Amino acid sequence: MGISPAEVEEIFRAAGAFLDGHFVLSSGRHSPRYLEKFQVLQWPESTERLCAAIAGRARDLRVETVAGPTTGGIILAHEVARQLGVRAVYAERAESGPGRAFRRGFQLRPGERVLVVDDIMSTGGSVDETIAAVRAGGAEVVAAAVLVDRSGGSAHTAGVPYFALWEVSIDSYDPLSCPQCARGEPARKPGTTPAAMKGA
Ligand SMILES: [Zn+2]
Repeated sequence: MGISPAEVEEIFRAAGAFLDGHFVLSSGRHSPRYLEKFQVLQWPESTERLCAAIAGRARDLRVETVAGPTTGGIILAHEVARQLGVRAVYAERAESGPGRAFRRGFQLRPGERVLVVDDIMSTGGSVDETIAAVRAGGAEVVAAAVLVDRSGGSAHTAGVPYFALWEVSIDSYDPLSCPQCARGEPARKPGTTPAAMKGA
């Protein structure tokens, strides 16, 4: 079942996962928009709908396993795999060294056809690390898919076919050059109640 980018945005907005306001991000930068994916992922019915769109586009790829990075990718991999009738695994922080690895006894065999999924593509780091973990065992990444691409086209996916259900651009500013701060609008940290928190 296909889905339009506008429908994806509506699902995020209805769940309170895509907010307009004046936010202090964990990086310290300010933004007029905020995505909190778990506000959507907490609803199985919405997650099922979004994953149906990914599963539909992956149906001809002869996927054998769906893999996602922690944390949201666990939920998405599991639901996409359920709909495709295959298994799901997830990649987490490697026990030592950089990147991600499959732990907990997850095994991929050489040539196994793997679909990589994640919730939000920001820099592509999590997806890239999951692709690398799949390839480390000799398995093949047949495609990568995310719910939301907010990278502005800058993310790369290691040369595999890639699609996003929704692309959105979210500006962020140094507090000193934030136009909302310049207008005196109070900023808040997402997940907290509105409060005057100007500047950094
Ligand atoms: Zn600001």
